[in-house]
Amino acid sequence: MEKTNAVPGDYVELSLVNRDYQGVFLESPENEKGIVLLKLDSGYNIGFVKKEVMEVKVLKKAEEKIEELEIKKNSEKPNVAMIITGGTIAARLNPSKGGVDWLDNPASLFKFYPEIFKLVNVSKVEVPFMKASEDMDFKDWQKIARVAVKLLNDTNVKGIIITHGTDFLHYTSAALSFFLKDLNKPVVLTYSQRSIDRASSDANLNLQCSALAAISDIAEVMLVGHASENDDFCFAMPGAKVRKLHTSRRDAFKVVNGKPFAKIFTDKVINVSEYNQRKKGKIKADTSFEEKVALVKIYPGQNPEILDYYLKKKYKGIVLEMSGLGHAPGKRARNSWISKLKEVQKRGLIVCATSQCINGRVDPLVYSNGRELLETGIIYLEDMLSETALVKLGWILGHKEWAKNRDAVKAKMLENIVGEISDRLEN
Ligand code: ASP
Repeated sequence: MEKTNAVPGDYVELSLVNRDYQGVFLESPENEKGIVLLKLDSGYNIGFVKKEVMEVKVLKKAEEKIEELEIKKNSEKPNVAMIITGGTIAARLNPSKGGVDWLDNPASLFKFYPEIFKLVNVSKVEVPFMKASEDMDFKDWQKIARVAVKLLNDTNVKGIIITHGTDFLHYTSAALSFFLKDLNKPVVLTYSQRSIDRASSDANLNLQCSALAAISDIAEVMLVGHASENDDFCFAMPGAKVRKLHTSRRDAFKVVNGKPFAKIFTDKVINVSEYNQRKKGKIKADTSFEEKVALVKIYPGQNPEILDYYLKKKYKGIVLEMSGLGHAPGKRARNSWISKLKEVQKRGLIVCATSQCINGRVDPLVYSNGRELLETGIIYLEDMLSETALVKLGWILGHKEWAKNRDAVKAKMLENIVGEISDRLEN
């Protein structure tokens, strides 16, 4: 390879004898200086033997895209506020590692996506923390909710956009649905599956659609993201009815057992189903949360003694993700759950049941196994998603007035508070 002026981070074209490759030029690995690394648009890193590379042509310098743009406010456009929390959407390629790292200056996010300013002013940016969503817990949800309330009660802000990692985004969207119910303005959560420096990044469309959602009349906690693998429109999805269903596709999130609120293009919002409209006045966050809740998946032959562990550790509630219509090993199984379930509930543990099928509704009345499990007293949660159920259980048990009474907890878990349970007829 001849000398090149390409530096790590530059977008280059690399020529071999019979083929050209385009991608981001990466630093050579420490102990393999004879190798050139490239991050392809597909996201894969690929290595070439230096001797075989004929030319490396710089197509775009690394920092150009950031430097040349300036954020301008326009008083004619509506103001939205932004909460940046980390995740891929606020990360970029680190050319020396080949992986993505958080942006040092999170607000520079907009410089990658100036299109958002065609529609709105981003008048305020808050960065409560920068994390991968798998590192978050209920304290982070509480922090986001507190910042969100402050922004929602600002009369100069029309709506808010929260950018977030994808992995556990549906837990946060469920938590905010309960913490911020009876909203006055839209609360939009969005993400990207591919980092902002990749040609195939999904962030641009997601942010533009989020901007439209934030100034729409949909006063709900919603998740806005690609509706399909194409870069053409997004769905606005109810926060408590959505789940990450794909590891890498842009349309990773789908509404489960429900419908999106709206279809959003870069220039219009088409309403699809009912939602709460904007209202006047200030709102409060209700962020009480009991940390001692768990989600346990049932699998063949699973020993119910696992519940002893949770009791010993002073857990207050468990969501069991059951098989099919809502089953765990019953009377005829080698490790029956029946007597252990009776015992732990008698000792105060709240036990709820969802299905690991994801789609559909639990129904314990169809089989004898289900009936016997129901008789132990466990609470079957209709068509609620397991992740939403875990968050809801923590939220309900966080309220002393309900938590002290088992019947009150059961009634609240079965009450459709923020759209987490859908109508039988509708399905
Ligand atoms: N693991 C990352 C996260 O959830 C992935 C992403 O951001 O999409 O934060």
